[in-house]
Amino acid sequence: MVGASVAFHLARKNAGKILLLERNEIASAASSRAAGLVLQASTKFSRTPLAKLTVDTLPLLEDELGERLGYHQVGSLRLAASEARADELDSMARDASLWGIPVQWMDTAETGNLVPWLDTGAVQKALYLPTDGYVDPYLLTMFYIKAARARGAVVRSRMEVRDVLLEKQKVVGVLTDGGKIACGNVVDACGAWASVFSELIGFPLPAAPVRSHYWITEKSKAYGGEHPVTILPDIAAYTRPEVGGLIVGVQEPRSATFDARDIPHDPADFSPTRGEEHWDVIASAYEDLARFFPAIDAAKFSSYMCGLSSYTPDGEIILGRVPGVSGFYAATGDCGSGITLSAGMGDVIADLLLGRQPAFTIEPFRPDRFGVVDPYSESFRTSSASARASKSRKVA
Ligand SMILES: Cc1cc2nc3c(=O)[nH]c(=O)nc-3n(C[C@H](O)[C@H](O)[C@H](O)COP(=O)(O)OP(=O)(O)OC[C@H]3O[C@@H](n4cnc5c(N)ncnc54)[C@H](O)[C@@H]3O)c2cc1C
Repeated sequence: MVGASVAFHLARKNAGKILLLERNEIASAASSRAAGLVLQASTKFSRTPLAKLTVDTLPLLEDELGERLGYHQVGSLRLAASEARADELDSMARDASLWGIPVQWMDTAETGNLVPWLDTGAVQKALYLPTDGYVDPYLLTMFYIKAARARGAVVRSRMEVRDVLLEKQKVVGVLTDGGKIACGNVVDACGAWASVFSELIGFPLPAAPVRSHYWITEKSKAYGGEHPVTILPDIAAYTRPEVGGLIVGVQEPRSATFDARDIPHDPADFSPTRGEEHWDVIASAYEDLARFFPAIDAAKFSSYMCGLSSYTPDGEIILGRVPGVSGFYAATGDCGSGITLSAGMGDVIADLLLGRQPAFTIEPFRPDRFGVVDPYSESFRTSSASARASKSRKVA
């Protein structure tokens, strides 16, 4: 996803020769597993404009390709059931408005009308963002790819980059399993493997693979068809409609995390979840979920999806020039929001490569903001996993 967006934005800005390399099939890792939520309000002010750019870019991609992407612009409802979360909503609403993102406060009756399965009894405050929604993440990746190709970018799957070639600490090419390719810039958009890749230039990026997962119910009229995404920060959970059923995602207090060096190159050879253990995770969240979704006992969960996102300890993405080597950039550390932030990340990297000032502040995303770290260490991975636990709220 992120590499595809970088390629599209470079092509759109006429950046010259662009080559996107993927060692497996396109979008075979995290980008085909995501729930596809596109959420512009955030507890992090820094990421809101990047997310807004994604919402603005979706129709543009459709125009470029003359095809419908099918963005489900159902809006999102952020529901606070405590004073702390309600205060967060206030600041999110302010930030979103500053960036021109429409927001609406909803009363209990309006909220209940929008989401038929929701018990609004626990809800203290509800913020609605009508331009949020969800998208098929595989399709969006392919839209970026097709639009990049239409503008001259070359995209190769089944080609692995094995080394980055440097002369006097400047990028001069890459070594692939198909031979050497000369280039002046390399963007590391390797998702869960980003730190392993950047280690090739001696700077393992400060991000760790952390498991994300969600469950899908069977269809039921009780869910009311298309309706807004709900974000429930008090219980670290979210929902969205899925062809008549419901997707329910839960951010565990301690998400599973992995040493990036141990993850097989082909995601088909690896699952971050063993066997049926995930049913225990959703079962332990039932009590919390039932506060908002009293009919959960009747919900028939029939599918499960998991994958790895790349998390940083402060929950901010990694975006920018990597110090020490000229021509090496990072676009990763997505913190489980790479679909939402995809256009913003691509746009920033394209501007940097072209020597332009990015449209957004990127200081919080600096690749070297943690100093020298060992991203494979237990302590680093644990703190990165904690960022997932507090993803939709400021305090864990
Ligand atoms: C279950 C789940 C639910 C999620 N839900 C959401 C959501 O609702 N909204 C949202 O915004 N985000 C969500 N995410 C996060 C989102 O999926 C990621 O942020 C996004 O897909 C990251 O895209 P990426 O391109 O960085 O990584 P990936 O899609 O993982 O792509 C990285 C690619 O790099 C390739 N690669 C690695 N090393 C090399 C090499 N040496 N040479 C060539 N290729 C290489 C890999 O093969 C891989 O295909 C979710 C993630 C998961 C797992």
